[in-house]
Amino acid sequence: MQKDRKKAALHDLLLAAGVLLAAGVLSLLLRPGGGGAWAVVSVDGQEIARYRLDQDREETIGQGDYNILRIENGAAAVTEANCGDRTCVVMGPISREGETIVCLPHRLLIRVEGGEASGVDAVS
Ligand SMILES: [Zn+2]
Repeated sequence: MQKDRKKAALHDLLLAAGVLLAAGVLSLLLRPGGGGAWAVVSVDGQEIARYRLDQDREETIGQGDYNILRIENGAAAVTEANCGDRTCVVMGPISREGETIVCLPHRLLIRVEGGEASGVDAVS
């Protein structure tokens, strides 16, 4: 049964890579025309919502399987989720163009678009 578990892990990895790739292609196609950064929320590769990063808010994404997305101080983070591994909670916050939070069990992808792509890495 060990082998099967390995296979499942590989499958998850491939799925994640696929989701990221799809999101990347999508963002190239749908390049927003400037003006602030957005947290773009996709489930199963389908964009379901986008929220401005300059407006603080909290959204619950999903119903039975939920992730709570909090936008605060120009950054997006998943603060709570019932996905089991909670990788998505640990991954945040994100604020720069192209940064992502992925929740594999919920097939959820949150990606920053339109932020400051260039410039100094302002980690202090
Ligand atoms: Zn998760």
